[in-house]
Amino acid sequence: MKIRIGYGWDSHAFQSGVPLVIGGLAIEHPEGLAGHSDGDVLLHAITDALLGAVSAGDIGSFFPPGDPRWKGADSAIFLKLALDEIHTAGYKIANVDTTLVLAAPKISPIAGEIRERVASLLDIPAGDVSIKAKTPEGMGMDHVAQAHAVVLLERIEEDSSLRVMHAEIEETVTVGTDEIDEMLKEMSRGRKPAVKKPAFDTEDFT
Ligand SMILES: [Zn+2]
Repeated sequence: MKIRIGYGWDSHAFQSGVPLVIGGLAIEHPEGLAGHSDGDVLLHAITDALLGAVSAGDIGSFFPPGDPRWKGADSAIFLKLALDEIHTAGYKIANVDTTLVLAAPKISPIAGEIRERVASLLDIPAGDVSIKAKTPEGMGMDHVAQAHAVVLLERIEEDSSLRVMHAEIEETVTVGTDEIDEMLKEMSRGRKPAVKKPAFDTEDFT
């Protein structure tokens, strides 16, 4: 399959004395979102959408709420794990669309900033991330923040130029095939490959 879709939803109650973090962005507000982690409702919804897209379970199966390791955790950790899961499955993000539902604070003035932050956490262009917000009219949920997220994934194609490079590297470099695969995977994601350095500097022995 060349494309896959994922959907995520989350909600957290507002609580005073807690910092408010939405989409990895710290926001000035008298209340924050209660939760075992930092309560980042938006990142949790996106994490679930990513995991759902590759049928890899949900955030709770990887990070059980009762686990003390995730108490007050930065939700970017959850997002990174979900990204690893989709890359391992052979997919990358095509685009992400989200809707926040909350009475306050107003999201529109900071939507651009949240978008930039989410895009950088996902390592994709801001143009592939959409942040929308609505107030929960008539729902009696003024002290709750909800987030919905939909992601579209597309298969990572190992194009012919990469295959040629693969052959050339294999001929000239004496590293394992697994390492070459990892380097090519990194390149195809548009990142610089992580070249493993030797454990010591040979010049030190002079
Ligand atoms: Zn959550």
